[in-house]
Amino acid sequence: MSNVDAQELAKFSELAHRWWDPESEFRPLHQINPLRLEWIDGLASLRGKQVLDVGCGGGILAEAMARRAAHVTGIDLAARPLGVARLHALEAAVTNLDYREIATEALAQERPCAFDVVTCMEMLEHVPDPAAVVRACAALVKPGGWVFFSTLNRNPKAFLFAIIGAEYVLGLLPKGTHEYARFIRPSELARWSRDSGVELQASRGMQYNPLTKRYWLSADTSVNYLVACRRPG
Ligand code: SAH
Repeated sequence: MSNVDAQELAKFSELAHRWWDPESEFRPLHQINPLRLEWIDGLASLRGKQVLDVGCGGGILAEAMARRAAHVTGIDLAARPLGVARLHALEAAVTNLDYREIATEALAQERPCAFDVVTCMEMLEHVPDPAAVVRACAALVKPGGWVFFSTLNRNPKAFLFAIIGAEYVLGLLPKGTHEYARFIRPSELARWSRDSGVELQASRGMQYNPLTKRYWLSADTSVNYLVACRRPG
């Protein structure tokens, strides 16, 4: 199992103790979480569903989905973020939530077609072979189930906003968080999904206004974006 960049995992592990601090490096994840949660829940209705969160990190989305009464499994390959996620769930007394350190591809072998909903947010752009993760996510979802991805588009505007703007000008993220070459065009993500047997249903862009410090969803997928795919029933 080698679809991992050890340096990427180390970056997230180093910061793990600040994962739930809403003013930390993870502030953007805290701020976008209600938006993505609403979008996912609106399409896939989470209540009572078996949900897998791939690359869950410290569990911001996983725990929020569990609070919506989904039965959530969060997986990641970075041990410290997982430790933080487990501790936070324990302190918050969220019980329908459980975390495992396992590769997506390995879980796809172990539990094919096991989940109603698979989410994989802000993770594909940190992985050497994102298409393989997309294939594994598609294999993990039941027929009729939903797969959600979010990542960063690859074009000059995305370079300017997501790297220069977010890391160097506004300081929203630590320098070196993202590598431009790993950004993914929506057309590429759509092709990998289709080739994996899931169909693109919807997509949304995420905008940020540095003056108001607010995020919102829109039709503009030129920088940050989310897609929803469905496996035919
Ligand atoms: N999905 C979470 C965290 C995003 S940060 C959220 O949106 O709130 C990216 C996460 O991807 C980190 O936790 C990192 O450890 C994880 N990650 C990076 N490469 C990975 C891989 N190959 N397999 C599993 N997780 C990975």
